[in-house]
Amino acid sequence: MAKNRQPETLARLGPAETGSPAENEAEQFERLASHVRGILTELGLDLSDPNLVRTDERVAEMYLEMFHGLKEGAEPRVTTFPNDEDYKHMVMEKDIPFYSMCAHHLVPFYGHAHLAYIPGDRIIGLSKFSRILEFYAKRPQLQERLTEQVVEFLEDKLHPMGAMVVIEARHLCVEMRGVKKPGALTVTSAIRGVFHQRSVREEFLDLLRRR
Ligand SMILES: [Zn+2]
Repeated sequence: MAKNRQPETLARLGPAETGSPAENEAEQFERLASHVRGILTELGLDLSDPNLVRTDERVAEMYLEMFHGLKEGAEPRVTTFPNDEDYKHMVMEKDIPFYSMCAHHLVPFYGHAHLAYIPGDRIIGLSKFSRILEFYAKRPQLQERLTEQVVEFLEDKLHPMGAMVVIEARHLCVEMRGVKKPGALTVTSAIRGVFHQRSVREEFLDLLRRR
């Protein structure tokens, strides 16, 4: 949305309180850019440097994209279908890639998620798994919370017999600074319903190991 927005366009837009969503977004974009300029200035950088001339706008635009999950209406519309086949086994989507931003340091953490559920009366289109994951990933986030939010979404929309989410991720705040542990993988899991049973979790892990 913010792409190619010209300063003249921004000047014509009204105040945020009375503006349309597009106008509010333009104002938000301008405010974000101005905060980025503040940080760069505070660091003593010369903002007339050719490489920094539009960095404020690029970062503002990138933030609006990376934090899109915070926007009203960003929640994916998930259509569920009746489980007419009475399928009572595990449905799993594994190795779904994602990128998110650590809420503590605002640097990326990224990796793969593995989602599974055992249907009750409703099933869900498989393509929705990655949409749900992306919705919760596109915000300042914690891996633990992301894992819980995804499994809770499945629980809430599907009322399955059970659901399980495992996320494996690398955190740049761990790798680039502080303790510096390059390549370390953080693994989180969240379960609902029948996945509390060891045998069901073992089936999940067994399916996960099959590459
Ligand atoms: Zn962090």
